[in-house]
Amino acid sequence: MSDGWQRGEQDLERAAAELAGRLPPALAPLARLAFDYRWSWWPGGPEIFQAIDPRRWQLCGGNPVRLLEETPTATLARAAGDSALLARATAVVEAIAAERARPFAPGPVAADRPVAFLCAEYGIHGSLPIYAGGLGVLAGDLLKEASDRALPLVAVGLLYRQGSFHQRLDPSGWQHEYWIETDAERLPAARVTGSDGRPLRISVSLCGRRVAAQIWRLEIGRIPLFLLDSDVPENTRVDRWITSRLYVGDRETRLAQYALLGIGGIRALRALGIDPGVIHLNEGHAALAPLELAREQMAAGVDFATAWAEARRRTVFTTHTPVAAGNDSYEPELVLSVLGDFAAELSFAPEPFLALGRVHPEDPHEPFGITVLGLHASRAANGVSRRHGEVSRRMWAPLWPDRPLEEVPIGHVTNGVHVPSWMAPPMRELLDRYLGPEWPDRATEASTWDAVDAIPDAELWAVRQTLRREMVRWVQQRSVDDRLARGAVPRQYAEAAALGFSPETLTVGFARRIATYKRLYLLLREPERALPLLDGSTPLQLVIAGKAHPQDEEAKRLVQRLFPVAVARQVASRVAYLEDYDLAMAARLVAGCDVWVNLPRPPLEASGTSGMKAVLNGGLHLSVLDGWWEEACDGQNGWGIASDPLLEADLQDTRDASSLYSLLEREIVPAFYDRDAAGVPRAWVERIKRSLRSLGPRFHAGRMLEDYRDTIYPDR
Ligand SMILES: *Cc1c(COP(=O)(O)O)cnc(C)c1O
Repeated sequence: MSDGWQRGEQDLERAAAELAGRLPPALAPLARLAFDYRWSWWPGGPEIFQAIDPRRWQLCGGNPVRLLEETPTATLARAAGDSALLARATAVVEAIAAERARPFAPGPVAADRPVAFLCAEYGIHGSLPIYAGGLGVLAGDLLKEASDRALPLVAVGLLYRQGSFHQRLDPSGWQHEYWIETDAERLPAARVTGSDGRPLRISVSLCGRRVAAQIWRLEIGRIPLFLLDSDVPENTRVDRWITSRLYVGDRETRLAQYALLGIGGIRALRALGIDPGVIHLNEGHAALAPLELAREQMAAGVDFATAWAEARRRTVFTTHTPVAAGNDSYEPELVLSVLGDFAAELSFAPEPFLALGRVHPEDPHEPFGITVLGLHASRAANGVSRRHGEVSRRMWAPLWPDRPLEEVPIGHVTNGVHVPSWMAPPMRELLDRYLGPEWPDRATEASTWDAVDAIPDAELWAVRQTLRREMVRWVQQRSVDDRLARGAVPRQYAEAAALGFSPETLTVGFARRIATYKRLYLLLREPERALPLLDGSTPLQLVIAGKAHPQDEEAKRLVQRLFPVAVARQVASRVAYLEDYDLAMAARLVAGCDVWVNLPRPPLEASGTSGMKAVLNGGLHLSVLDGWWEEACDGQNGWGIASDPLLEADLQDTRDASSLYSLLEREIVPAFYDRDAAGVPRAWVERIKRSLRSLGPRFHAGRMLEDYRDTIYPDR
């Protein structure tokens, strides 16, 4: 095994020992636990830290290192005297240590030639704000699953000091953003040092300067996550800013980020002593990595063609973007001003270098596309759902002009979500009882989920009731806080949802990044049909959340246009727009909502994953047949809306909104409120069972990782 697996581990151990030294001896083992995110998906793990100081746990954003550093001595002493808490903590610490000691799983990936997973964002936990949305959350889920399955994988990303932005709406519904600086010293992370005991450095020539970066190590269970950080004293202020924000608007900085991730990522692996067998580019941001692999070979005297073929043989690429405009591309002048030195290191003249990022290499005006580079640079490529695989083949067919469409070499691995992270404890306990406690190990087998049928309807329904009630109580409080902070007057409006929401009412959720194609506006497109649904003896209540990208003015206007309707009295008491959607909020909403809605304009949803999270909790999915739902919906395990992409957009919207209301009016509302003598909605529960049985085996990260392991990672 290469020593890179250990590099940085001593630094983490040292940081943990330092923290332990400041704790009462009985709490010392918690210091090491705090430095391994495995606690976050261990059943009962978060509760251990929470029990020490519940209020501070919340204020620390669930960061256990901060919690242990900031909790007053008297409070720590009280926790150290709580023998039940200590017993629980010891059990978790020992179980996690035993899990780490397991050998790597045998398979096509060898432990000394691990997969290097490169991604611009990771959604691991709320306390590590280096994600923007679905791509990051998916990457985080994949790392956790790799840890659970002991797959040899190391991950590389960037440490953004001002990563995920925060959202605040003003009384008119306009989105404002603000950033909170992350104190890297207080993350569960350690600066990796070299054998000389000094912080390890890598550097990349960017914009005519040598930009240095340090490397932080984090532990996502047994998977090391290495984050590059250009905020070091020897860099200029401008270069220190490179790893400041996620997807910055300034294109030069953004390209520099991608270069640091791709080129710097490979250099970091080298500095760590890791020789990856497979480079997995998760989206195009890291697509310069294979060029760095080629450069290494050329520095050893190999010609470009041979070096490039060798780099391609090691690289696989996952595309996540079904819209041409969503695939970053850069004007040739900008590429050369940022990457000119790197091209020269490759002994490249500018034009052949630029050609690597072009569909038509000979067209000097075509911008340099990072997805094109990723496709050129990889031996295997995939989209993230069956539908997205087809869309990607069509979109990129011009790269293979002599092949028929079906032979364009882009396949698909449908996304999946990490079960222990997304299934709420009451649901997990129910399935543990009926599927057998080790069912997650057999989660890809259909027979495992057949046992769902044996769950008594009343028990399954009781869990659903608990999950909804908990969430609604939280929404009631949160909506008052949000409305007051927004400066919303009068008081009746601030409290309207708190008073109008009921824990027993059918609760519909719509929460995701607000982009125009997600068509949030369809929800209230026909007020004369929407309003009656919110009223009467069988009402529904609606929870909405989501952030627009700071530069996406169109999406911001879209939220704002909802507001005149949303503050109307009837609506204000049954519809809540919660601000600042993030991982923690997502976990609450997907657990508690009865129906989870997605209304993308097909085929623009590459996959979508929040619906899978809802399904795992016994929520029912109501979605346009696009992304993952196109291959998942069987007509009885949720509800599908067939949307015709050939229609003119406005007509398509009208039709789809009408289908949505019809389903709600005719099927969903009546089924939810149709109860037997014991108060159980039999047909509803039957649909939940069907949903769990048919979707459970397929749409989770275990199946996804198996697909990567068996079909994408092996070099055949
Ligand atoms: C799951 C998740 C997403 C992705 O959801 P989609 O259905 O793909 O829109 C985005 N953000 C957060 C915080 C999530 O948890």
